Amino acid sequence: MASEFDLIRRHFIRPTHHSVLGVGDDCAIVAPRAGFELLVSTDMLVAGTHFFADTDPEGLGWKTAAVNISDIAAMGGEPRWITLALSLPAADEAWIAALAKGFADCCDAFGVDWIGGDTTRGPLNLCATVFGEAPAGAAIRRSGAQPGDEIWISGQPGLAALGLQSLLGRIVLADAAREACLTALHRPQPRVGLGLALRGIASAMLDVSDGLAGDLGHVLESSAVGALLEEDLLPLNALRAAGADAEQARHALFSGGDDYELVFAAPADKRTDVLVLAAALAIPLTRIGHIVSEPGIALATVGGTREPISARGYDHFPG
Ligand code: ADP
Ligand code: MG
Repeated sequence: MASEFDLIRRHFIRPTHHSVLGVGDDCAIVAPRAGFELLVSTDMLVAGTHFFADTDPEGLGWKTAAVNISDIAAMGGEPRWITLALSLPAADEAWIAALAKGFADCCDAFGVDWIGGDTTRGPLNLCATVFGEAPAGAAIRRSGAQPGDEIWISGQPGLAALGLQSLLGRIVLADAAREACLTALHRPQPRVGLGLALRGIASAMLDVSDGLAGDLGHVLESSAVGALLEEDLLPLNALRAAGADAEQARHALFSGGDDYELVFAAPADKRTDVLVLAAALAIPLTRIGHIVSEPGIALATVGGTREPISARGYDHFPG
């Protein structure tokens, strides 16, 4: 069986492009550019909680990098470096090679140097730490939303949740949509270019990893504001077309996780800038409502009523 050091040498040493020193010493060495701040984020994926233990390892490697890189995107940062700590039940080398390939492919796709990590035996668990850069003061926080700002969401949130529901046998998706839903679930695309382009436009932003309601709730809480969403603006049509009924579509949008789309607030006078950006980047950006001063999330229905939306996404420790 391959030793820990063989595994590292064969699978985890990758060429770096903007690092002083990569894998192989006690530490990696990196040099942030002058005038930039470092953005640091860690995300852990645990078998049984975040993925099925028999998940395709290449997709799992991709996703582990992607969900971390997404956090940098969510602040308008440029992802630069990443480390990966792995706990593995057994040294199945083909599995590790596929995992490493998926992780490295995602890093390469977003210009991130994989500069270190740790490899140990234990329950299957993947934990990455990503480092990004943004010009000092330019990172977009959750706390900047103001009443009157418009609320936008990128892409098609809810597809990943439908993909998961279909794997669990709880929904039958249209053939044409099933693939897109599973791709959204297994190969999320962090919105790095969009996040960067929103510097100077968005007043507050985060990435949706636990459902729109809960994650938007975090922005609202940090900014001490509320949201009024408009039912007729919600991006539900594609979810209905994929095979979800009205209730499933709404649930996928508000409570489904794992989309890694960006939700952001922007002043109303930036609406044209946002639309120009959507066209330039060929990413759908949907305005779903606006920020209000009363706390909580309310939905203005097509029928003219107002319903409260529970600001509760996925919570690992409910209660
Ligand atoms: P130490 O005992 O000094 O912490 P290790 O023996 O754990 O060092 O690791 C040796 C080198 O291999 C370090 O540079 C470490 O960053 C790297 N490494 C270990 N595991 C991984 C991994 N999963 N991905 C990338 N690099 C790794
Ligand atoms: Mg170590």
